[in-house]
Amino acid sequence: MGSSPTPVVTRFAPSPTGFLHIGGARTALFNYLFARHFGGKFLLRIEDTDRERSTQAAIDAIIDGMKWLNLEWDGEITYQFARAERHAEVARQLLAEGKAYYCYATPEELEEMRAKARAEGRPMKYDGRWRDRDPSEAPAGVKPVIRLKAPQTGETTIRDLVQGEVTVSHEQLDDMVLLRADGTPTYMLAVVVDDHDMGVTHVIRGDDHLNNAFRQLALIRALGWPEPVYAHIPLIHGADGAKLSKRHGALGVTEYREMGFLPEAVENYLLRLGWGYGDEEIISRQQAIEWFSIEAVGRSPSRFDMKKLEHLNGHYMREADDARLTALVVPRIESLLERQLSDAERAMLQSNIKELKVRAKTLVELAQSALFFFRTRPIPLDAGAIKLLQPPAPEVLREAYKALADTAEWRTDALEATVRALAERLGVGLGKVAQPLRAALTGSTTSPGIFDVLSGLGREESLGRIEDAISAAASGK
Ligand code: GLU
Repeated sequence: MGSSPTPVVTRFAPSPTGFLHIGGARTALFNYLFARHFGGKFLLRIEDTDRERSTQAAIDAIIDGMKWLNLEWDGEITYQFARAERHAEVARQLLAEGKAYYCYATPEELEEMRAKARAEGRPMKYDGRWRDRDPSEAPAGVKPVIRLKAPQTGETTIRDLVQGEVTVSHEQLDDMVLLRADGTPTYMLAVVVDDHDMGVTHVIRGDDHLNNAFRQLALIRALGWPEPVYAHIPLIHGADGAKLSKRHGALGVTEYREMGFLPEAVENYLLRLGWGYGDEEIISRQQAIEWFSIEAVGRSPSRFDMKKLEHLNGHYMREADDARLTALVVPRIESLLERQLSDAERAMLQSNIKELKVRAKTLVELAQSALFFFRTRPIPLDAGAIKLLQPPAPEVLREAYKALADTAEWRTDALEATVRALAERLGVGLGKVAQPLRAALTGSTTSPGIFDVLSGLGREESLGRIEDAISAAASGK
């Protein structure tokens, strides 16, 4: 654990206008790890001030995604919209102190300023026409906004923990609106007030917010509040280097859950995306908390690489507890089969999951690879299996049927002895017997070890499937 003079408080502040996307999840993770590393607090604030675009479904999806990833936040969730009155109060306080002013510029005047800026090829900048004007000159019938008296000369330098020193000249900042004519706070005001009231010490967020930091600092300084430390992290790009978008595949964290990824694999992947600790690839939550440092986050955008995520997922599936993995995969199998599994079938699955999981990169693949256990006879055969059942396979299977039927104890070791003895008697390699058996028993060419398959399926089902394969071969199917 590191130490910091003031207790560290970070926050994740998503706008609930969509699901928790993969970039947001990484921002949340970094905030979480930073806070935990310093023994501080990690807070969650839902920035639901855009009433048109914010939805309850999105709030639920964000919370669901955070919970799935195990990103536990401290205390209650702060909802920004509910604090609008507090935001307005701060704007009025600045007004009373002469640090903000009423602006009566009409929509037409602002449009003129915009057009002029466009013509001159520069960004729109409010020209401060009401900055020093007496409100007694206010035109009748125009409801004013409240604007910040931003500094007009000098510059601000941010020592960003990721971006380094970034300087912006105050001439580039205009007097931004704090409170709209209808009395609602702007986003800039809300963020600054909430971060202050929540005691946020470190603002870690996407680097698309870096420009906002300069405006937010102007406001923080006008209020005389402590300045947070900033860390603007680069966005995630697709494998082709372009900004991550729908066309790169899934964007929502919970879509990865549906695709059969384990949360710890997604977490490890997001952590390693643009952050590293030596050559460590597999990093546990505990190690991540211990090792995390925001300064080690790279400045260039990271590229999302599905193959790497799959690789990590394969690793975590192999590590996962068998009972947990079984519980995760059962609903997938049930939906593929369109029926429930019995308790005996679940138990059988769990005893075979060790064998199955080494071959699967996702829960989707795991479910697929386990299906053969639960098929009803005659089971479907894929093209590879049909090929394996060509002569002389039917003859081998007839011999295998007899030998297996005579096996006294239907146990893996006894079954192995039977099959090995048969191969020897036939004067062929083990594969020549095992492969047709695999095709007959599983309908495919890959599966867990054939003796485990036999014992998992049981005597009656195994012999029945072998019989089915022999008669399918005889009828030329
Ligand atoms: N609500 C903003 C977003 O979702 C984040 C604002 C912030 O972190 O300051 O992009």
